[in-house]
Amino acid sequence: MPDAPTVAERAQAGDVLDRLRTRYPEIGTALRYDDQWQLLVATVLSAQTTDENVNAVTPVLFQRWPTVDDLAGADLEEVEKVVYSTGFFRQKTASIIALSADLVDRYDGVVPGDLDDLVTLRGVGRKTASVILAEAFGVPAIAVDTHVNRVSNRLGLVSTAAPEKIEFALRDLYPEDDWSAISMRFIQFGREVCVARRPRCWECTLADVCAYPNKTPAPEPDDG
Ligand code: SF4
Repeated sequence: MPDAPTVAERAQAGDVLDRLRTRYPEIGTALRYDDQWQLLVATVLSAQTTDENVNAVTPVLFQRWPTVDDLAGADLEEVEKVVYSTGFFRQKTASIIALSADLVDRYDGVVPGDLDDLVTLRGVGRKTASVILAEAFGVPAIAVDTHVNRVSNRLGLVSTAAPEKIEFALRDLYPEDDWSAISMRFIQFGREVCVARRPRCWECTLADVCAYPNKTPAPEPDDG
């Protein structure tokens, strides 16, 4: 078992989150949804695409199949046609039908507000389950996606590429009340500043508390 974080490590982590809260005072998912099941479906569809693409598709999807029972019994090929533009449409279609069927079969069609239950649904991993808990249930949860992974490693908050280990390391670093505040801010920061290639370190408000050894220098004036 890894050592518990030191006081200094917790202070650095708190400082990072404070600064990201200043940068992003209000933050939440851009996915549009009316209830927890719709958010679950939209979150599954959002893998490897933008929230805008998902928002363009879900009104059609939920008009055609308005309830969890409807989607659980939907025709695979019809659903594929509707979600096609979100990419990976075969896998996503199979997942949203299967998770709806699981909800109908085992949870009376109601999305459970518990991580251990959520991850038993087909097509639902810890990341998706954590998004639902934090966003739709107000339950403390940390969703680790590629941005959270990259940003937390570069900052030196964690030193592992395994999403579940990152989730638990962040849980150790932060008080439970902060958990749900972390993911969306790290994600947005990872999209805007700490991008995968050539992070914008020269204008980063976290540079002085960041452990990343290869910080990007400011571009020359004629760098384009
Ligand atoms: S200094 Fe660079 S690597 Fe560190 S958090 Fe900021 S953008 Fe990311």
